[in-house]
Amino acid sequence: MTERERILTGIRPTGSLHLGHYAGALENWVKLQHDYDCNFLIADYQVSDYADDIAHVRQSVWEVVLDWLAVGLDPEGSNFVIESLAPEHAELTTLLSWFLPLSMLERNPTLKAEMAALEGGEDPSVERKPVPVAFFTYPVMQVANILMPRAHLVPVGEDQLPHIELTRETARRFNHRFKDVFPEPRAKVGRVPRLVGIDGNAKMSKSRGNTIDLKDDAETVAKKIRGMYGGPPRGATEPGDPDENPIMLYLAAFDPDEAEVAELRQRYATQGLPNKELKELLTKHLNELLEPMRERRAKYAANMPQVREAVEHGTKRFRVLAQETMEMVHDALDMNYLEQY
Ligand code: ATP
Ligand code: MG
Repeated sequence: MTERERILTGIRPTGSLHLGHYAGALENWVKLQHDYDCNFLIADYQVSDYADDIAHVRQSVWEVVLDWLAVGLDPEGSNFVIESLAPEHAELTTLLSWFLPLSMLERNPTLKAEMAALEGGEDPSVERKPVPVAFFTYPVMQVANILMPRAHLVPVGEDQLPHIELTRETARRFNHRFKDVFPEPRAKVGRVPRLVGIDGNAKMSKSRGNTIDLKDDAETVAKKIRGMYGGPPRGATEPGDPDENPIMLYLAAFDPDEAEVAELRQRYATQGLPNKELKELLTKHLNELLEPMRERRAKYAANMPQVREAVEHGTKRFRVLAQETMEMVHDALDMNYLEQY
């Protein structure tokens, strides 16, 4: 039997998941779970303000797990893993730090942008926070996450690509200098590489408060869409560029009827379409997408001990793989000092 390729991907437990997570990543995970050995990681070590709000992290771990179950990930066929319960991650992060030049982190565009946001950006009204060391080094930990199960494929949103490149570079350096331990993992970006926010911002993101969450009820979704940014000001029958209107972008992403989308885009560009009508259509399609997720979520939420057990088992299975990798790493680095005499 040929060995199946492995997937490692993850999410930080910072709250419940939104449509950006779904379109950029989760949707792909659901599709790929049958053809790969999958490891889905809850990256609690990487929450940047971890120490400020541990209670929130604790709760978010289970919110994320419930969202994964809601979208249809199978915790028996795949491993759901809590990062800190496999402390091998901490060790591998330390060891890999030797092979990553500081300049590669300093150049990382995602890290730069996130760090600027964390520091409060240009906006003087935003409280400035010191950046913890753990934040600056989280990409190294992400490299360790991916290399830990010796993953071949990493399905993620576009913003993660610099980290995958860092991982490939680290694997190459390590394999070349020591032993061939790590496959060079490939990235796989979702159908919507970066979903815009309902406020029109370039990225739907919890920290910007511009999300539609997978667990939002039908009325919340309708309300958020009623207040959604509808592109530059325009009369109801004035043609516009569909790519400048988030409502049109969301329809393209979430209306399953491609012919309908093509026709709407055409009409929008030539004769114009009122946002009110588009918002109603979008509400209908989104609620159709989200309703089965809400039902699955509620079913699992009513049985948390079973959910907990699935995560516990997944983490245990993952640790077997992790310990195997660590043995290979110790061997490659010739770290078995006690075997010397
Ligand atoms: P948030 O900004 O809402 O806290 P995040 O980006 O910090 O979310 P992560 O745990 O870093 O959440 O990302 C989880 C996965 O979801 C990554 O693969 C990321 O690329 C993807 N993702 C997050 N937001 C979006 C988005 N708006 N569009 C596409 N993919 C996204
Ligand atoms: Mg992120």
